[in-house]
Amino acid sequence: MTPKPPAAPALPLRRILVVAVRPVTPRTVRVTFGGESLADLTLAGPDQQVKLYFPRPGRSEPVLPAPDRDGDLMRWYAAYAAIPEAERPWMRSYTIRVHDPGAATVDIDFYVHGGDGGRSEHGPATRWARAARPGDTLGMFGPSAYFATPVTVGAADWSLLAADGCSLPALATVAEALPPGHRAVAFVQVADATEEQPLVTAGELTVHWLHGDASPAEAVRGAALPPGTPYAWLAGEAGAVRALRRHLVKERGYDRRAVHFTGYWRRHLTQDDAPTPEDLAEARERLESAGGEAG
Ligand SMILES: Cc1cc2nc3c(=O)[nH]c(=O)nc-3n(C[C@H](O)[C@H](O)[C@H](O)COP(=O)(O)OP(=O)(O)OC[C@H]3O[C@@H](n4cnc5c(N)ncnc54)[C@H](O)[C@@H]3O)c2cc1C
Repeated sequence: MTPKPPAAPALPLRRILVVAVRPVTPRTVRVTFGGESLADLTLAGPDQQVKLYFPRPGRSEPVLPAPDRDGDLMRWYAAYAAIPEAERPWMRSYTIRVHDPGAATVDIDFYVHGGDGGRSEHGPATRWARAARPGDTLGMFGPSAYFATPVTVGAADWSLLAADGCSLPALATVAEALPPGHRAVAFVQVADATEEQPLVTAGELTVHWLHGDASPAEAVRGAALPPGTPYAWLAGEAGAVRALRRHLVKERGYDRRAVHFTGYWRRHLTQDDAPTPEDLAEARERLESAGGEAG
């Protein structure tokens, strides 16, 4: 008998349906998604990002190319990118806040930005979240090793966490993964006190809530931080993350390989806009750090 060839890895592309929507804070909406395709979902750890695909106006669900049997991501992405722009579903990055394997559901917390005196526009993902109803359908790619950097909280003497309103869901999963008794300090910038959320953790976590436009880099610069070797996890507006990372590496002398940083959004730019020179420099640095070069 001819042996069967090994099964080709399928792309982790799923159709997910809204089953419930509830507010978490005035600016955060928790959407619970279900769907048959979630039955085999497993998470490799905290901070699991996914790409969500949002339908264009007039469509009830996003129209996406079917993946090839061989699971070739680049070919699938080329087919997605070849859809005429007016038809192509919007792609945005989000984080799985809660996974309930028993119910085969995931919760995603959408920070509904905008509405702040015209300083930022609602993007398509935010517009969708504000109107989400049971039965609405999105596409979801991931979680996937293609874009996941493992988070190693607990490996260092202590952890420094920093987030804003849209990266707070990811920070909450990192806090939940802290080993019992692990020392951690978090700086979370939110609009005001109504956006503060309780963080569940087994670690020894101290949270500093920053309101309005307070600079996380300035707050950290003025803070007395624990002694020992830290691991830092930073996410939020790209410029704010960059400033904080610069402070940690250049002024505090932290090992840049121990500073995990991600720009979640860019002021005045959408996720469809091309990378800026700063974004490209940052991507290069991230690759270098992953390659183990000391800085
Ligand atoms: C790895 C990763 C994980 C993420 N996880 C989450 C998550 O779990 N929950 C979540 O809410 N977001 C998350 N984000 C952030 C989210 O992808 C962005 O905020 C995204 O731009 C929202 O898309 P949009 O269509 O609403 O806005 P876009 O069309 O991308 O942008 C429209 C306008 O809104 C502004 N804008 C975008 N985001 C924000 C913001 N947060 N605050 C203020 N102004 C903003 C832009 O500058 C632009 O002017 C994540 C991002 C990354 C990279």
